[in-house]
Amino acid sequence: MTLTEKILARASGKAHVEPGANVWVNVDVLMTHDVCGPGTIGVFKREFGKDAKVWDPRKVVIIPDHYIFTADSMSNRNVDILREFVREQGLPYFYDVIDDPNGHWQFDASRGQTKAQYGSRYTGVCHTTLPWKGHTRPGEILFGTDSHTCMAGAFNQFATGIGNTDAGFILGTGKLLIKVPETMRFFLEGAMQPGVMAKDVILHVIGDIGFDGATYRAMQWEGPGVYAMNMDDRMTIANMAIEAGGKNAMFPCDQKTLDYVRERTAENGTREDFEPVELDADQKFIYDKVFDLSKLEPTVACHPDPGQRRLAKEMSSVQLDRAYIGSCTGGKTSDFLAFAQVVKGRSVKIDTFGVPATTKVVRELKETQWDGQSVWNILESAGVRMTENASCAACLGGPVDTFGRLNKPMKCISATNRNFPGRMGNKESEVYLASPYTVAASALTGRVTDPREFVS
Ligand code: SF4
Repeated sequence: MTLTEKILARASGKAHVEPGANVWVNVDVLMTHDVCGPGTIGVFKREFGKDAKVWDPRKVVIIPDHYIFTADSMSNRNVDILREFVREQGLPYFYDVIDDPNGHWQFDASRGQTKAQYGSRYTGVCHTTLPWKGHTRPGEILFGTDSHTCMAGAFNQFATGIGNTDAGFILGTGKLLIKVPETMRFFLEGAMQPGVMAKDVILHVIGDIGFDGATYRAMQWEGPGVYAMNMDDRMTIANMAIEAGGKNAMFPCDQKTLDYVRERTAENGTREDFEPVELDADQKFIYDKVFDLSKLEPTVACHPDPGQRRLAKEMSSVQLDRAYIGSCTGGKTSDFLAFAQVVKGRSVKIDTFGVPATTKVVRELKETQWDGQSVWNILESAGVRMTENASCAACLGGPVDTFGRLNKPMKCISATNRNFPGRMGNKESEVYLASPYTVAASALTGRVTDPREFVS
């Protein structure tokens, strides 16, 4: 069996499963956030009764992260609905925006968008919070009411996005009926050249198979190129499985995975008794292809979908209005460090926004010193508009006062993961997806730029 099949077999109490089989699986973690959480809670109450209790409070993780730093009162209210539910159910894993469990969240626009407006428990973007707080564990099943839940596949976990109805059902039962996907294998060999990042790998692959090329399939990553990658790189690749239509992403578990997970489960007091799945010799794939990482070049996914692949070096005639770095895919500390490497001592030429994925990233960028200066200051000195309010922000547009949102037709190069029309705000805008290196180089020149001009 493939890694995905092995996890689904174990979670459904079977010795063996085949692609296409429908199986009931026991859920290890259900995650929801401020956009889908209220709807999920509504389904749960409607179907199980207003006094119903969730199946296992320690398996529910609630992370407000999407429409947080906005004066939109309906969005603020969504965070309050989550808090009321957490209080009623006694849920331990709620990363609230404010510290008062009986309080109300209200964003204070008069204080501006860039200075922190959150309490001590707030974390930021859900998919980056889950591993940080020890909720992603090898061999387990994670469902989330968000399509990029597939990011946790980096940790040898079966993780996928679901709708509010399925999530409401899980809240009541801890189970879900799921069809076992076929598996595609992506075997990575060779080493990435300077200037090339994990983001280029996934953009290259999606360009190869198309933005629907993995529809309802598991995307399994193997090979020496995978083991050479750190966990951030694996997360970037796993995150974008859904941009090819994938049901989930799946990485093998190695010492890097174990070290990362053990450190965080111990730090945050989450479950430590997980059981990874190992590679079998007799796996059957619906697709199997080798990619030589040493041949890859900085890559861009052009408007209007993530499958529109071109090389950055062929796009220097595309003039830009904005650059953006942030999101679960591109707002990790390692992403900002790569970005800072390029802009250090230089000045951006176009409006450039930086939104850290989590409050931990904010802290790390402020604490990391290069030549006596924090990376945060290096970014601001280069002209990047940084906000301490870690969140999804303009990655998915959001209310009109969202930091970095495209409020009029413009061309934006972005380290995020999705570029369908209207994704970052205005429907007439064009979004170009690229690596943090490429976004940084392009911010410096005002046109799509191959970062190898700046990274040796
Ligand atoms: S950062 Fe973007 S892709 Fe990630 S969860 Fe938020 S909206 Fe979705």
